[in-house]
Amino acid sequence: MSDLLYLDHNATTPLDPAVREAMLPWLENGFGNPSSVYSLGRRAAEALKEARSQVAALVGTDPSEIVFNSCGTEATNTAILSALAIDPDRRHIITSTVEHSATVKLCEYLATRGYEITWLPVDKEGLLDPAKLEAAITPETAVISLLWANNETGVLFPIERIAAIALEKKIPLHVDAVQAAGKVPIDLSALNVQYVSLSAHKLYAPKGVGGLYVNKRARYTPLLRGSQEETRRGGTQNVASIVAFGKAAELALTHLPSSPERIRALRDRFETTLLSSIEGARRNGGAYPRLPNTSNLTFPGIEAETALLLFDKEGLCCSAGSACSSGSINPSHVLTAMGVSRDEARASLRFSFGRTTTEADVDRALEIIPRIVAKLRAERPSGGSPVAIKS
Ligand SMILES: *Cc1c(COP(=O)(O)O)cnc(C)c1O
Repeated sequence: MSDLLYLDHNATTPLDPAVREAMLPWLENGFGNPSSVYSLGRRAAEALKEARSQVAALVGTDPSEIVFNSCGTEATNTAILSALAIDPDRRHIITSTVEHSATVKLCEYLATRGYEITWLPVDKEGLLDPAKLEAAITPETAVISLLWANNETGVLFPIERIAAIALEKKIPLHVDAVQAAGKVPIDLSALNVQYVSLSAHKLYAPKGVGGLYVNKRARYTPLLRGSQEETRRGGTQNVASIVAFGKAAELALTHLPSSPERIRALRDRFETTLLSSIEGARRNGGAYPRLPNTSNLTFPGIEAETALLLFDKEGLCCSAGSACSSGSINPSHVLTAMGVSRDEARASLRFSFGRTTTEADVDRALEIIPRIVAKLRAERPSGGSPVAIKS
């Protein structure tokens, strides 16, 4: 197997060595339960406190507003269900057609339980029109749940504007900031948002730990009832992983002034080169506003799933613009919502860069990708006829 060329940081990130160092003591001698009164437990509680401050600092809020839990998906489910519990008579939810499955699957389930869901459309650049959000709000609206940064395209939603609308209409707002955190500056103290989902494993910390920001003025109902997290999330805290999350948040904050710009330069060189050298190639999602690390590209005439297998032989990891479920390949709902045809969505790949990505990685990717795309095109049943480029 060739050296790993990991360009899938939106799926998950490698553990930062400093994060690993920070968490190890809590898997060894520091194994106490943070709820225990003796010093072994109190030390664990102190570690949670520090981690809470570190995560709060990353998103510009007070530590008391951070509730630790198991993942970004739990955070999203808790936020939406919390908002619904506030006012059980309101049974309308507003979200978008390009959300992460954590939101999509919950809303699809709630639709079967009598909730009305408005799936706001996006334009061909993946952008949301705030006027459409405003128009969708009714007296029945219980919650608005939207992404900050799209995990497939990196497109950023206008959260300031969305928050202003939610404030004016007095509707609780949940924002899924799992991909935005650490990649763009976030200052929740300056925004009217009630709930914000975060996940550690997109930030160079381990999987299975996340957090929910709950605005101190927001109503809240726990998903898991128990005494921990001041009764906001039951279950003994995963101390080592939470410490890792805290350290990762601290590192992300120190890297924020420089790392995203370095990554943006790598991403832009990668993207411009492929767009100009591969016939018919195009980008999904507007160039701006967009995360600095994500590039979602369509190479007409290829099957992305096959490309992933060939890339894998060379050590290159990225994602397809499609998801394999029950044996059939479904084109990405995000891309089809942007007006990309099903065939083009099946020919789309997402590359996402990270802190460990180097210029040499980009050079290697720029050698592998055009070669594999040419190979796949030449092997098509049509016998490698020229690629039809639709305007
Ligand atoms: C990864 C991701 C999630 C889910 O986080 P988990 O911790 O894996 O449950 C939610 N939203 C977005 C945008 C993500 O990228």
